Amino acid sequence: MCIFCKIVNNEIPSNPVMENDNFIAFHDLNPKAPVHVLVIPKVHVESFNDVSAEMMAGMTTFIQDVAEHVGIKASGYRVITNVGENGGQEVKHLHFHVLGGARLKWGHFSDADPKDFL
Ligand code: AMP
Repeated sequence: MCIFCKIVNNEIPSNPVMENDNFIAFHDLNPKAPVHVLVIPKVHVESFNDVSAEMMAGMTTFIQDVAEHVGIKASGYRVITNVGENGGQEVKHLHFHVLGGARLKWGHFSDADPKDFL
């Protein structure tokens, strides 16, 4: 069973933010911003490649509610999902990073120079 399924099943602890029937949100163990919450489906879905449009509809509303709940909806935030090897996905259970609480940087995404691919 994957680590996020264990969190869903309360087999390992998390620092919860909120949940509904289908999704849970909890604080990232290694935060990259003052607010860094992970949002996951309760059922195991490997990555964004595998999520249905129907599940994304519920996920979208849930992420908006999470942003409101943690007080970053008005000030702004970023939603990221890493997909697969090049995306840097470490945990193979779909999750959305919700980052905010400060002005976020917009950075350097890879060591490859994008101009080399034009
Ligand atoms: P990713 O690289 O997109 O797969 O992100 C995985 C994220 O999960 C990282 O930001 C980790 O800090 C976070 N993480 C891993 N294990 C846990 C855990 N048990 N509780 C909370 N966050 C975790």
